[in-house]
Amino acid sequence: MPLKINSILKSHQLRVTNCRSDVLDTFLHKEMALSHSDLEETLQENYDRVTIYRTLKTFLDHDLIHKVLDDTGVVKYALCTHSASEEHHDHEHVHFKCEKCGNTQCIEEISLPQISLPKGFVGKEMNLLIHGICDKCS
Ligand SMILES: [Zn+2]
Ligand SMILES: [Zn+2]
Ligand SMILES: [Zn+2]
Repeated sequence: MPLKINSILKSHQLRVTNCRSDVLDTFLHKEMALSHSDLEETLQENYDRVTIYRTLKTFLDHDLIHKVLDDTGVVKYALCTHSASEEHHDHEHVHFKCEKCGNTQCIEEISLPQISLPKGFVGKEMNLLIHGICDKCS
């Protein structure tokens, strides 16, 4: 088991289990947002869907991954790049969906624009999805 995976899990106060390592490994290798069924497809020989589901939930709770909203309505997840010790943890970045390969990825270099809402509205979360052709397909 690669050291990197163990240390990422430990830095998020997570015990290392085989499923957690494999799910994390899949995220690290694919470098794109993955849905539950994407993970199931990759890992189904080793883990059942409930175990994968629980692992995703744990990762979400520990700020290891965040939700990525796609236009398909399927919830996808992507790795958080901030370390767990960082006080300010947000997902205020742009997500990009490629029309050719269908992959959605985080573009952390671009922060979301500040938007002021009308009086009486309280914003909690903002998602910005850009459609286009990614750098691998263009
Ligand atoms: Zn995060
Ligand atoms: Zn692409
Ligand atoms: Zn993201």
